[in-house]
Amino acid sequence: MTTVRDYIRTIADFPHEGIMFRDVTTLFADPRGFRMAIDQLLHPYAGTRFDTVVGLEARGFILGGAVAHQLSAGFVPVRKKGKLPGAVISESYTLEYGEAVVEVHDDAITPGDRILLVDDLLATGGTAEAGIRLMERLGAEIIGCAFIIDLPDLGGRTRLEALGMDVHALCS
Ligand code: IMP
Repeated sequence: MTTVRDYIRTIADFPHEGIMFRDVTTLFADPRGFRMAIDQLLHPYAGTRFDTVVGLEARGFILGGAVAHQLSAGFVPVRKKGKLPGAVISESYTLEYGEAVVEVHDDAITPGDRILLVDDLLATGGTAEAGIRLMERLGAEIIGCAFIIDLPDLGGRTRLEALGMDVHALCS
C-alpha cells in the first residue's frame, strides 16, 4: 500500500552541502498523495472543534488552507518578517547561522480561540516554537501541532512536548 512517505522526495545537498532536503512538492502534486496527507493530518482530531488553523510560511500555508477548509475553520498565516501589511507581533528564533523572525497580525486571533498549528516538517522545533509563542501572546488555546514529517534526531517533538504541546506527525 502506498503511504504518505512514498510521495516525499529527498534531494541531497539542498540548500547546503550535506543537507538531505525532504521535498513535499511531490506529495502536494499528487492528487491521491495530497488528499491522503490532509486526511491523515486531521485523523486524530475527529470530533474536535477548532476556530482557526495557523500555518507556518510557506508550505504550512498549502496544508493549512486545505485543513482549515475541512474543519470549517478560519486560516491565519504566520509569516516571515516584513510580509504582513497590518500591525503585527513578532518572535525571533535561532537558526543554525543567525536568527529569524516570524510575525502574525496582532488582531488575527480572538483570545480563547482553539487553534491547530500546521507545517510540513518539524526539525529543531524553533520555527514551531516561535509560532506557538505568537499564539500564546494572542491568548489562543493551542489544541495541537500537526506536521507531515518529524525529524526526531533534531529534537523538535521533545521541545514542543516540553511546552505541553500535543504533536502529531505522519512520518519520521
Ligand atoms: P525547525 O525550525 O528546525 O523545526 O525547521 C522547520 C522549518 O524548516 C519548517 O518551516 C520547514 O518547512 C523547514 N525545513 C527544514 N528542513 C526541511 C526539509 O528538509 N524539507 C522541508 N522543509 C524543511
